[in-house]
Amino acid sequence: MSTGYIWHELYGWYDTGTGGQAPADPNAGLQPLTHHFAHPDTKRRIHELVAVSGMINALERLQPRKATEQELLRVHTSDHVERIKYESTLAKGGDTGDGVSPFGKGGFDIAALSAGGAITLVEAVVTGTVSNGYAIINPPGHHARSETGMGFCAFNNVAVAVKHAREVLGVEKAAVVDWDVHHGNGTQSIFWTDPSVLTISIHQDRCYPTDSGFVTERGEGDGEGFALNIPLPPGTGHEGYLYAFETIVIPALRDFKPDLIVVASGFDAGMHDPLARQMATTATFRLMTRSILALADELCGGRVAMMQEGGYSPQYVPFCGAAVIAELAGVEPLVDPYLPGQVGARGFDLEPHQKAEIDEIARLTQPVSHSA
Ligand code: ZN
Repeated sequence: MSTGYIWHELYGWYDTGTGGQAPADPNAGLQPLTHHFAHPDTKRRIHELVAVSGMINALERLQPRKATEQELLRVHTSDHVERIKYESTLAKGGDTGDGVSPFGKGGFDIAALSAGGAITLVEAVVTGTVSNGYAIINPPGHHARSETGMGFCAFNNVAVAVKHAREVLGVEKAAVVDWDVHHGNGTQSIFWTDPSVLTISIHQDRCYPTDSGFVTERGEGDGEGFALNIPLPPGTGHEGYLYAFETIVIPALRDFKPDLIVVASGFDAGMHDPLARQMATTATFRLMTRSILALADELCGGRVAMMQEGGYSPQYVPFCGAAVIAELAGVEPLVDPYLPGQVGARGFDLEPHQKAEIDEIARLTQPVSHSA
């Protein structure tokens, strides 16, 4: 048994500029800042903690390659790919699509390497080179739709990897579990009518985008019933996440019987994140990983590939990443130095209103069965 691991120094060179979120603008009172919310240092710090702690010695290091244009075009329109490529040649770079997702010169190459890292990991997991794995790729991808990037995402890395698994590696059914705190709207839209890919997004209700991720969004046509949304109320913590996992995510996966599970792994549901209001901890991410692994052992030979998405607390994200990677590799987790200061804080337990909302989502999503 081995756990694949991907990081490339270029992921840390993706330049998100000097805005905080919107570009710096003195007329709007927006001061320039060294760290955009999506500054790549947060991701680089996961890798450095994995390396410095020695955990890296238990992992099988894989070398990512750039996704080819043909591979990007399985998911994206040529207009989108060409625009990112063109803006990437400009001295000051461009924006992936929504005006708050800047990238510097050469951003196309790093985004293609990010999508390629997702392909590399899925390939290693599906062919059995490794049992499971984690790719700390950057920029993230789950908000990117076919025709545009948004929400700091350029290309939909997970979707590119899943299409590769289906069309090249012979995987019949893939499930995407997206635990980034924001709705996996891009991934959902790409597989909206596709019954071979079950997309599950567990996120903070109407955090971002505020107009999607509702429980009523289930896919359409042949894909009806193959999109699943679990919008949790703000303030949901450790027990709430695990309760939603056990009552909705795991039964849906068991019903679908995937041949491969891909996790869109954001750490912005963590309790210190500046772009959301949830209270997950390292233990939450570790136990969600444990659930997925147990289920993958039961259903698909343990084939789990996890891809980095968001996460904006440079202090806390590295510990969340290390917790998940330790669980995947079956090694001793690091001590979370942030937890003792939170003992007794309200929000880690399952609150009655959270249980009521989760039970209602479970009830509303029950009738569609994939077993037939
Ligand atoms: Zn996010």
